[in-house]
Amino acid sequence: MIPEVNLTELYKIQNKDEQLRYNEGFKKYVFNALLSDKIGARRKIPDSRHHLCFNQTYSHLLPQASIIICYYNELASVIIRMINSILDRTPRDLLKEILLIDDHSEPEYEATNYIKAYAKENWPDNIKFLRTTKNEGLIRARVFGANIASADVIVFLDSHCEVNEGWLEPLLDRIKEKRTRIVCPAIDIINADNMAYIPAPLAKGGMNWGLTFVWNYPERGYFDDPQNYVRPLKSATMAGGLFAVDKDYFNKLGQYDKGMEIWGAENVEISIRIWLCGGELEIIPCSRVGHIFRRTRPYGIHSDTQGKNAYRAAMVWLDEYKENFFKARPHYRNKDPGDLSEMMALKERLQCKPFNWFLKNIYPILKPNNDLKGAAEIYRKKNTDWDKSKLYKIELYGTNLCLACKNESNKLDKKAIIILQRCFRMSY
Ligand code: UDP
Ligand code: MN
Repeated sequence: MIPEVNLTELYKIQNKDEQLRYNEGFKKYVFNALLSDKIGARRKIPDSRHHLCFNQTYSHLLPQASIIICYYNELASVIIRMINSILDRTPRDLLKEILLIDDHSEPEYEATNYIKAYAKENWPDNIKFLRTTKNEGLIRARVFGANIASADVIVFLDSHCEVNEGWLEPLLDRIKEKRTRIVCPAIDIINADNMAYIPAPLAKGGMNWGLTFVWNYPERGYFDDPQNYVRPLKSATMAGGLFAVDKDYFNKLGQYDKGMEIWGAENVEISIRIWLCGGELEIIPCSRVGHIFRRTRPYGIHSDTQGKNAYRAAMVWLDEYKENFFKARPHYRNKDPGDLSEMMALKERLQCKPFNWFLKNIYPILKPNNDLKGAAEIYRKKNTDWDKSKLYKIELYGTNLCLACKNESNKLDKKAIIILQRCFRMSY
């Protein structure tokens, strides 16, 4: 029996001890660890699939999956609930194994022993515990898992997800049909504060010239055809945390760039590589998985690994467009990206297409002159009047109009009314 939990009740902080646990939890995990503990080992979540998904049929002979979950400084109750969501909502014959990889978490995060004790009582033995010998970062930790996985298909998931009904079949079906397809579930939102499971609108993955991932919403009119609520969406990039891939094809593609550290931009790099080197990338709307989105990450604050990793990706893939990357991230000009020889050899071996092809055929909205018409960028200016006033602004490209909050303090307060106004300061 999967219990229905009353989040409003559980959210209430009952006493000083709970207040302390709430505060500590946010500091350690950047989400409501107290509430996660209170919710417990399993819960009902809304079935966020479009009703047309129920008419979909899938092959009876789907390949099996190895699910790879890497975690670093993660909360035990989040992982336990995640594994139970997989066990409760995945046909057992499709689930070869779950590899739980502790990427050498710090000692004060004691999740692993707790989870192991729970597993002994509650889980089948195809849920395996592994640990890296040092903190490798999510990129190499995933490769470590992929090299051990034994099923035909590997599915990578972040360590704070809850999978929804029927999530796996549509992914495996697309891969069975074409082994060079890399497929992502639609990612629903688990609110980091109140843990509500919120169905998210369908969006495609994109990027900017700094090789930062962005969401792009389908053009107006796209959903006039209701079948588009179920049709796979071709996507230029993936968000990164959640995807399925044929294991042999993942290896053929060269796995990840193992010179990348800790976190960031590996998703954009592998997405560009997929498209340029013979694969394709899709988001599958009928496969839904919730993910806790947090405002920051509780690790790696001392180094801009996302920038460094993006720099490596730019040097390997951007060809004559490298200058656009430097315009977006000027401080990487003349920096050392590290050894790229393996990646360059891979590019050669796979006979990958030039980046120009990606721009023309896969992601034409990224214009070479950086003119993302209609797109908006969120600016938070540091060390200026803006910073002092904690004023956030969303500036519409090519205009001097900004979205701002209409309130006395000019602060971004919850429920503040959003207005369009002349930008406070234009230079950035
Ligand atoms: N992770 C890891 N090793 C690290 C850093 C992160 O295994 O050194 C894991 C982390 O626990 C999570 C996944 O990689 O399961 C992605 O990281 P995170 O969720 O923090 O990134 P976000 O979803 O915020 O992009
Ligand atoms: Mn995550």
